[in-house]
Amino acid sequence: MLTPRQLFFQHVAQTSDFPLALEIEKAEGIYLHGSNGQRYIDLISGIGVSNVGHRHPNVVAAIQEQLEKYMHLMVYGEFVQTPQVQLAQALAQTLPETLSSVYFTNSGTEAVEGAMKLAKRYTGRREIISCFNAYHGATQGALSLSGGEWFKQSFRPLLPGIRHIQHGKLDHLAQITEQTAAVFMEVVQGEAGVRVPDPAYLQAVRQRCTEVGALLVFDEIQTGFGRTGTFWAFESFSVVPDILLCAKGMGGGMPIGAFISSPEIMGVFKTNPILGHITTFGGHPVSCAASLATLQVIQAEKLYEKAEEKGQLFRQLLTHPAIREIRGKGLMLAAEFESFEVLKAVIDRAIASDKIGVLTDWFLFCDNSMRIAPPLVITEDEIRLACAAILDAIENSAKSN
Ligand code: PMP
Repeated sequence: MLTPRQLFFQHVAQTSDFPLALEIEKAEGIYLHGSNGQRYIDLISGIGVSNVGHRHPNVVAAIQEQLEKYMHLMVYGEFVQTPQVQLAQALAQTLPETLSSVYFTNSGTEAVEGAMKLAKRYTGRREIISCFNAYHGATQGALSLSGGEWFKQSFRPLLPGIRHIQHGKLDHLAQITEQTAAVFMEVVQGEAGVRVPDPAYLQAVRQRCTEVGALLVFDEIQTGFGRTGTFWAFESFSVVPDILLCAKGMGGGMPIGAFISSPEIMGVFKTNPILGHITTFGGHPVSCAASLATLQVIQAEKLYEKAEEKGQLFRQLLTHPAIREIRGKGLMLAAEFESFEVLKAVIDRAIASDKIGVLTDWFLFCDNSMRIAPPLVITEDEIRLACAAILDAIENSAKSN
């Protein structure tokens, strides 16, 4: 009989020749428990998802409670579903008054797609601007916005009318014009290797968009819900977007996304055509219940407030000649090594570490930097343990090279 691992390679579609292929029996807090008896510290939160830790008891309870009532009832937007309504209200309460109308999706890339349609429909314009090295998703519209040419060239033709500018470069802002429907931008670029812009840059982007009547869309799919030290990353840059995107961490481990705007902008989906954007499962009641519990945990425990302090501890502890720099904000960090080869050896060693495995990763568009984005509930002692294992892995991988 084939093992689950063998069946994984046989029947589950593969997207690389070297998947991690860890078999996990249970996950709790920051820990993953492997079927081989090994325990792993999850330093990447399932790529920006498990901000409140795996299986947070409040999230599990909210899911169970909703399961007792109903799951899918009707396609999006027709029925008054309490978990959706409560989540939309709670999201609006975290945001400036203009961002009060929430459209729920199943994922990040769908939030991007919906926002692209919304911006085109509202402005009547065709052109969209995004940044080099941005990552906005893998469906064809979101992929068109994303920055890495190697990642999208095999799928052309993609959407026409997309223009890319350099994140952080003021003199590229002149490319935002009266033809521009929207500018899509990550507040802190994630897959580019965690690039934090100068607040003055984002303020200049805001000003330019306002001048020419383009909508400013912030993609907070990776930064959202507390990761960078504030509930939303944009809060610490004193800039308010016209449309805000979130997903990943908002579900506490369940699939959900959203694009959020003003009632005036969102209102255009009602006419010409009617049902301007539709989805069967977007805003699934179980996902909404999980998301509301997640939001409440992050607020009640003020997890975002401690993110910066914990991030600083990582920076202090991860000092080693092999680490060239650590970039980031809060608990969204990138530790840069000399090359992908050096980093990959460290990552492999850290996972295989015999005391406790540490799970890290690199970035889609920055393969010499280690992704460090643990659940926000990680404790000081756990940070010390994880950093000691990483330093050990650096030493051991250097020895075996
Ligand atoms: N935008 C950003 C900034 C992301 O990091 C991601 C996922 N890595 C996406 C969009 C796409 O989200 P999803 O994978 O849920 O479609």
